[in-house]
Amino acid sequence: MVFTKPEIIEWQSQYPILKDIMDLNPVFWSNPNLKNVEEMDSLPLSREDIEEAELRWQRFAPFLERAFPETSSTNGIIESPLEEISQMKEEYLPDMEGTFYLKCDHELPVAGSIKARGGFYEVLQYAEKLALESGILRKDENYDVFSTDRFKSFFNQYSIGVGSTGNLGLSIGIISAKLGFNVSVYMSMDAKQWKKDLLRENGAEVLEFEGDFSEAILAGREATEADPNGYFIDDEDSEHLFLGYSVAALRLEKQLKEKGITVDADHPLIVYLPCGVGGSPGGITFGMKHVLGNHVHCIFVEPTHSPSVLIGLLTGEMDNVSVHDFGIDNRTEADGLAVGRPSRFATIISDQLVSGIYTIEDNGLYRQLANLADSEGIYLEPSAASGLIGPDRIYPYTEANNIKLSHATHIAWSTGGSLVPDDHMAVFYNKGKSLG
Ligand SMILES: *Cc1c(COP(=O)(O)O)cnc(C)c1O
Repeated sequence: MVFTKPEIIEWQSQYPILKDIMDLNPVFWSNPNLKNVEEMDSLPLSREDIEEAELRWQRFAPFLERAFPETSSTNGIIESPLEEISQMKEEYLPDMEGTFYLKCDHELPVAGSIKARGGFYEVLQYAEKLALESGILRKDENYDVFSTDRFKSFFNQYSIGVGSTGNLGLSIGIISAKLGFNVSVYMSMDAKQWKKDLLRENGAEVLEFEGDFSEAILAGREATEADPNGYFIDDEDSEHLFLGYSVAALRLEKQLKEKGITVDADHPLIVYLPCGVGGSPGGITFGMKHVLGNHVHCIFVEPTHSPSVLIGLLTGEMDNVSVHDFGIDNRTEADGLAVGRPSRFATIISDQLVSGIYTIEDNGLYRQLANLADSEGIYLEPSAASGLIGPDRIYPYTEANNIKLSHATHIAWSTGGSLVPDDHMAVFYNKGKSLG
């Protein structure tokens, strides 16, 4: 749908912030539809769904441990550490109150990004469903059997397709090939070459498309659905990706307890989540609100050139609108966040749960990336650095809602970076340094 000028002019008068968004100025938006957990309108998923998803991860742990030996230290559970980043706070955020942590999803094993949660989960649930339906698996069996040749040749009758600018394709490609699926990743020409190479090395087929990324998705969907044994993973509307992400909340709750961090009115928890299509931040927010309640405040972060979830929520049009309708080009170096249209499934849920969204310029991403490297020796990809200025941006929300920050815990979610080749990382870092 392309919106005609009169509609945009009307929205601009109704939502003054829209002009700044269209002018590509960094903004902070507070969500007027935010609800308390107990007042939420019925949602398509519940806490039980999160717990079931966690059990599915546990069933697959023996397989994951065998397939990916780097997960043996956690017995096949794919999780990342929570690390305090006090040097970063001291050197670059001297005015912030409370403590500052990094949720290190850039270190998630195998995929090196937050997509190890959602992407892996969706493929695992699909594999489990096929195996149960065909009768080759019992649910109480040790899922180690997924690494046998018998299972691999079974899955070889099936194909999985996904359209991706990078990290989603990496996660789906690696795990699907490991299980024995025929997996095809549909990418735009400008997707990073090292990601394509890595996928091919892992046994995935990579198909490249000229033009806009949406053409790659469309072609991928059509080709996959033409195969009766084909399954297309739809980043723009996926309940399974969403649930895979939501499990992070149960894990984080445990990590907070281990560190003696409480969450209540005097000890609010503020979480900054880089946002592309809205699935990972939406799923994590959904989980956090159910597990930790109203004193966790989730803030999404989008590039000024790709504010798709922001525009969808602001106008209430959700996935009916793309940033292109507003003259915004969706061009950003943050390839994990370069999404023009939000997820249908996730955005309807985030509408009630997200506290606010801020936007950031690409130069800000590079600066934060270099700041974190200098202060903590931690290297992220540009998308993942977007949450690091959160504590500086949150005041419009915390002041309006009387949230006291003196005992707050802030968590920037670092969504990717450990697979980025060193020479690429050096370019990111140097760019950040040159910007000062
Ligand atoms: C995919 C991705 C995100 C955002 O997740 P969405 O589900 O698209 O909102 C953030 N950071 C990185 C590095 C990603 O790959």
